[in-house]
Amino acid sequence: MKRKTFVLFPSLGVGHLNPMVELAKHLRRHGLGVVVAVIDPRDDDATSADATARLAAANPSITFRILPAPATASPDPGAHRVRRSLDTLRLANPVLLEFLRSLPAAVDALLLDMFCVDALDVAAELAIPAYFFFPSPASALAVFLHLPHYYANGTSFREMGKAALLRFPGIPPIRTVDMMATMQDKESETAKIRLYQFKRMMEGKGVLVNSFDWLEPKAMKALAAGVCVPDKPSPRVYCIGPLVDAGNKVGSGAERRHACLVWLDAQPRRSVVFLSFGSQGAFPAAQMKEIARGLESSGHRFLWVVRSPPEEQTTSPEPDLERLLPAGFLERTKDRGMVVKNWAPQAEVVQHEAVGVFVTHCGWNSTLEAIMSALPMICWPLYAEQAMNKVIMVEEMNIAVPLDGYEEGGLVKAEEVEAKVMLVMETEEGRKLREKLVETRDMALDAVKEGGSSEVAFDEFMRDLEKSSLENGVCS
Ligand code: UDP
Repeated sequence: MKRKTFVLFPSLGVGHLNPMVELAKHLRRHGLGVVVAVIDPRDDDATSADATARLAAANPSITFRILPAPATASPDPGAHRVRRSLDTLRLANPVLLEFLRSLPAAVDALLLDMFCVDALDVAAELAIPAYFFFPSPASALAVFLHLPHYYANGTSFREMGKAALLRFPGIPPIRTVDMMATMQDKESETAKIRLYQFKRMMEGKGVLVNSFDWLEPKAMKALAAGVCVPDKPSPRVYCIGPLVDAGNKVGSGAERRHACLVWLDAQPRRSVVFLSFGSQGAFPAAQMKEIARGLESSGHRFLWVVRSPPEEQTTSPEPDLERLLPAGFLERTKDRGMVVKNWAPQAEVVQHEAVGVFVTHCGWNSTLEAIMSALPMICWPLYAEQAMNKVIMVEEMNIAVPLDGYEEGGLVKAEEVEAKVMLVMETEEGRKLREKLVETRDMALDAVKEGGSSEVAFDEFMRDLEKSSLENGVCS
């Protein structure tokens, strides 16, 4: 049988590129041919450009092809980020088509990020089977696939009041305020574009999810039973994860490691509070001061990734720490704290034995990275589906505790930061949380080993693909 070749098409942004590259590595480990086709990040997205270059250099066995970005990113530059992403990706269809036609070998499947729904048209034109790769939890997939059905008749979340509980198949009751901001008003432009996205995701041949069955049994049961999409055939869902960055183990000399890793080496085991908020998370100056005060009064060690406030990001991408943090804070905490500007090697940080708790925005890559390091989390969701992830992480998975106060643009007070840090680092509840994380990490390791649920699901995916190729008369 000839070696199968997959083309992976991530959407824009590091949070989507990173897991797609992990999927690429997974396919390579199974002896498959892989090409990752990345739309050239624009000049204003240095983080993605850096990440693409770094990932390509670190993974020579994977072919990366940079496709030219469409001349116009979006017909409406003032539109919401989700609209602009979908527009850019749709406008890239001709480039993707030309690229796929230029490949010397036939492509066996196109694996699309969840935002690349319009690439289904390219796949159809070339008669290539298209699957989605979902870099968020299966619980979020259960909600996304259900929303077109719900909103066909349901009331806008915004009209229901923020404490109203929604009961969707496969997930715990969820308050409307924890649903995505883009979906609050069903007549809004953002809700319409997302409903279009979710409906098109059902047109794929299936969905590969970066999670594992044990972690989300209720969501997986609902997805498998088809109850999330009651009015249509549900796509087949395969939980093949966790696929996470194992960190860069090359170069043990201090000169080759990031300064924060060297600093962590000098801290006691499980003593450090790590704060990092994904590829985009940033806070207003007033909130940064509250965080700083909370960390200081907790008395614990900390490693904090800080960005300029949202309104200063274009004018001052380098945060001015002296101005943004309380007077004297850096000096007073210099023996037990480190502030890193903009970006830390998170995959390595979370694995470091000095780290004891992770204050996270609940992005799914960050969550999986923490799970694989058995690291308890404190949830501070900021955007996208992160508040929904928080509900699942706290109520279903029992792997995190939530912070109070951030909702609807509110400030999380210093006292709250201090209280939650103390709770995880010093109390019996924190000890139990850590135990749960160890169990979860062990189950994750079981899932990805030979014969584990994620490997079995991956084999099923390969068999289903083979079957559909044969049905379509493609020989391999
Ligand atoms: N990340 C990192 N350093 C940082 C911030 C983020 O390496 O300072 C990585 C992190 O390890 C994760 C990804 O960027 O792999 C962020 O993905 P996630 O899904 O957590 O959040 P998103 O950026 O999509 O909101």
